[in-house]
Amino acid sequence: MSAGAARLAALLRAARRAVALTGAGISVPSGIPDFRTPLTGMWANVDPMEVAHIDVFTRAPERFWGFYGPRFALLRDKRPNGAHHALAELERRGLLAAVITQNIDGLHRQAGTPDPIEVHGSLAIASCPACGVREPREEVARRVEAAGDGVPRCGCGAALKPGVVLFGELLPEAALERAFRLAGEADLLVCVGSSLEVHPVAGLPGVTLAAGGRVALVTQGPTPYDADAAVKLDGDVEHELEAVMAALEPQGV
Ligand code: ZN
Repeated sequence: MSAGAARLAALLRAARRAVALTGAGISVPSGIPDFRTPLTGMWANVDPMEVAHIDVFTRAPERFWGFYGPRFALLRDKRPNGAHHALAELERRGLLAAVITQNIDGLHRQAGTPDPIEVHGSLAIASCPACGVREPREEVARRVEAAGDGVPRCGCGAALKPGVVLFGELLPEAALERAFRLAGEADLLVCVGSSLEVHPVAGLPGVTLAAGGRVALVTQGPTPYDADAAVKLDGDVEHELEAVMAALEPQGV
């Protein structure tokens, strides 16, 4: 067992209120590509910021859903990995108060985290901007396939909108407020699989540190908080968190 895993286990045991913050890196072992990675050659030269935009959804839903449709389909056979399960288990044991995530894949919920704070929304549902009806991911994927133009529609005829924050849209205020409040109250913020460069979550470790809390990093590659972190585990996120869970087990009698 690495010294880092033992150290993080000790920090979790000692913490009064630990909170986790996760990014794309936690879902890589589940086979989920980064949002910006083209899924097909067709989109290889398309900037997601241009097509995954609220204006494109409004004006050209076929083009918009040409980009999002494969993403809904892709999630169908994706499952949470050991890192998602480790965080859910920590919450069950009372060693973690909450999970804040940038991810839209819904895997924390699938792993059993009861109420993840999804600051960028989630692909778990799509909703109707006209009448508010919400449809689960499987049903959205079915309608994408059934529609001649690839646009899943509500019973009222309007195009369904993914439950994620699109470019050109504001982040959900309630989720953001919760995230910042949790970061300020945490005496340990465990950042998993995030380079902590995308705002607003990039600011959360600073909030914890300013309030006197500690920051732990479980991520590959540099982050702006490397120098301030109480511990950094920079191996594979799944293996690292499984090692932390092993370190939390009572030692043999
Ligand atoms: Zn509708």
